[in-house]
Amino acid sequence: MFPKKRFSILAVSISIFLCTTACAGKKSETQTEFLLGTTCSVTLTSKHAKQDFDRVFTLVQEIEQTMSVHVEESDVSKINAMAGKTPVSVEPETFYLIERAVEIAEETEGALDITVGPFVEEWGIGTEHPKVPAIETIENLLSFVDYRSIVLDKQEQSVYLPRQRMKIDLGALAKGYAAHEAVKVLQEEGVARGIIDFGGNIMVFGTKESKEPWRIGIQQPEASRGHYFGIVEVDEGAVVSSGTYERFFVQDGVRYHHILDPAAGRPVRNGLDSVTILAESGTDADAYSTAVFVLGLEKGYRFIESKPELEAVLVTVDKEVYITSGLEDRFLQNNPNYIITQFE
Ligand code: AMP
Ligand code: MG
Repeated sequence: MFPKKRFSILAVSISIFLCTTACAGKKSETQTEFLLGTTCSVTLTSKHAKQDFDRVFTLVQEIEQTMSVHVEESDVSKINAMAGKTPVSVEPETFYLIERAVEIAEETEGALDITVGPFVEEWGIGTEHPKVPAIETIENLLSFVDYRSIVLDKQEQSVYLPRQRMKIDLGALAKGYAAHEAVKVLQEEGVARGIIDFGGNIMVFGTKESKEPWRIGIQQPEASRGHYFGIVEVDEGAVVSSGTYERFFVQDGVRYHHILDPAAGRPVRNGLDSVTILAESGTDADAYSTAVFVLGLEKGYRFIESKPELEAVLVTVDKEVYITSGLEDRFLQNNPNYIITQFE
C-alpha cells in the first residue's frame, strides 16, 4: 500500500513549518510531513501548536509502523507472512480496521477487498518498478483474493489468512483512519479547529471563527494539484477522494492507475475518473471512496443514496459530475467544463 519504506525515514527531515492565514489575532499553522506514502499536512490554530504537531505526527508514524506492508514488523506484514500457517494476534486498531474493511466488503459485494494484496504487489503501482503483469500471473492469483476467507477471532484479536500467498493491504482505508485518529488527538488536546489532509483524505473539525462552513476543493482529475472542479461546504467530518490521478503509470500509451478491480486483478476502467465521499468517519469515507469507484457510476451512486450518513460526488472521464441528493445545496461548481448531470 504505502509505496516505499524509505519515505518514513525521510519524513522527519522534510517537515515544513509554515504560518498561514492570520485570523483575528491567532494564526493558523501548517506542518507537512511525508508519511503513509503520501504528503500529510495538518493545519491548526492552537497556543501549543508545536506540541500538537508532534503528537499528531508521532501518532501517524505509529499507524504506519503498525499497518504498512512496507514495514517488516507491522501487524499487516506479520499477518501476510503467516498466511497459511497460523493466526496472528494484532493491535486493537489493526483488528478494528480489518473488521471494518470486511464489513464494507460485504456491503459492496467485494468492491472493496483488502485481500487484493497479491495484485497490488504484482502491478507495483506507486513503486519505482510498476509493470503490467502477464495474463497467466493474474489468473493464477485470482483465487487468492477473497475477503470472505479472512478468519477473524475477536477473543484472541487475531487475524488469519488461510492460504499461503494471500496478502492483505490496508491502503484503501488506512489514510482515512489516520486522519480520523489525528482529529481525535487534537480534540483531546483542546485544539479548537483544524484541517487534516493526508494525501487527499481531508478532515475538518471545529467551527471557523467566521462561523462559515469549511469549503473544500475537489481535485480536477486531469489537472495539476490544487485545481478544483468543485467545492463542497461542510461543517465537520471527512471529505475523501479516490481517483485515477492519485497513483498511476503509463505503458505503451495506456494509463494504469492504482484502484484495482479485485475480481479482475487489474485497474478499474469503468468511465469514472474520481469519487469523493463525505462522511462523519474518516475511515469510512476512505473505504467507501475506493469501493464506490470500483462499483462504478450507477451502482456506486445508488449505493450512496441508500445510505443516509454518506454523500458523494462522482466524476466521469467525460467531465460529467454526479452529486448525491443530500449534497446538492452544498456543492459549488468551480469549472464550467465540468457539467453537473443527472440520471435520466
Ligand atoms: P484509495 O486511494 O483510498 O482509493 O486506495 C487505493 C489503494 O488501496 C491502492 O493503492 C491499493 O493499495 C489498495 N487497493 C486498490 N484497489 C483496491 C480494492 N478494490 N480494494 C481494497 N484495496 C484496494
Ligand atoms: Mg480509499
